[in-house]
Amino acid sequence: MNIAFFGECMVELSGQPLRRTFGGDTLNTALYLSRLGASRHLSVSYATALGVDNISRDMLSAWQEENIDTRLVRKLENKLPGLYLVETEPNGERHFHYWRNDSAAKFYFATDLSPLEQAIDNHEFDALYISGISLAILAEEAKATLITLLEKHRQHGGKVMFDNNFRPQLWTAKQAQYWYSQVLRFVDIALVTEDDDHKVWGNSDIVARCRMFGCEEVVIKRGCDPCKVVSHLQSAEPTVTYVAANQVEHVVDTCAAGDSFAAGYLAGRLTGADETQSAELGHQLAAIVIQHPGAIIPREAMSALL
Ligand code: ADP
Repeated sequence: MNIAFFGECMVELSGQPLRRTFGGDTLNTALYLSRLGASRHLSVSYATALGVDNISRDMLSAWQEENIDTRLVRKLENKLPGLYLVETEPNGERHFHYWRNDSAAKFYFATDLSPLEQAIDNHEFDALYISGISLAILAEEAKATLITLLEKHRQHGGKVMFDNNFRPQLWTAKQAQYWYSQVLRFVDIALVTEDDDHKVWGNSDIVARCRMFGCEEVVIKRGCDPCKVVSHLQSAEPTVTYVAANQVEHVVDTCAAGDSFAAGYLAGRLTGADETQSAELGHQLAAIVIQHPGAIIPREAMSALL
């Protein structure tokens, strides 16, 4: 089973003194899925654009060390990766500052046919994963290119997974509504953070909306509360399952909680596990991730799941 991700990974500066790492929602999910997938016959490919600078090179080799296939990565000579700074107040509250308006990933579809489009044309992937952020960073024309890509992938029998991550710094709720409506027509599994859904759509019914657009399965993540999984959405009687989250006494950093949950859930669902088993794996991984600082935790910390 081959899964491709499209999105943006940025340089992260955090801590005192500042430390340079990297992160981004789709990359976090791709990386955790790659770790979980090694023993599950799952291979993960990440599509994005980077520069030709040393930091871009470091990122690329870090991904390769995680067994992520990087042949869909574009290297743009006149661009750099985006950057964010995490500022932590004495009381632990964190603020994120972004420099990403001119980042390489934004231009992935801007020139000739991209490696991802070629790969989809050649039916190279069983599944394709994007998030709201993958769309939000793109210019309007490139957003449309991405939607066409999803449609083509679907026509070839491929699966589409979508996480509704919403960043109000990148676009308005109204714009997100328009483009999420376009995406949801081609989505098989929607991973939805309840808070982000409310920011985009207000208090409307998530499940009814996903069903109306044609999704087959929706997972609603709700922090420490049980997640809600609704599957067989297009049948007369969809199945509703609630799966309790793991109890965590001391949360260190919730960064990448949703991203790692998604990786666990997909590691299950893409390899034949049912909804409950998959959500349990998602909760287990997320519970470990939030007990460590940063988005990407050491591999050893999750060895029980590998
Ligand atoms: P997001 O990070 O996308 O906002 P959530 O906050 O819903 O998503 O968290 C995603 C997952 O992380 C949850 O489904 C759960 O497995 C885990 N999680 C988050 N917060 C907690 C917590 N306080 N205790 C236990 N698990 C948590």
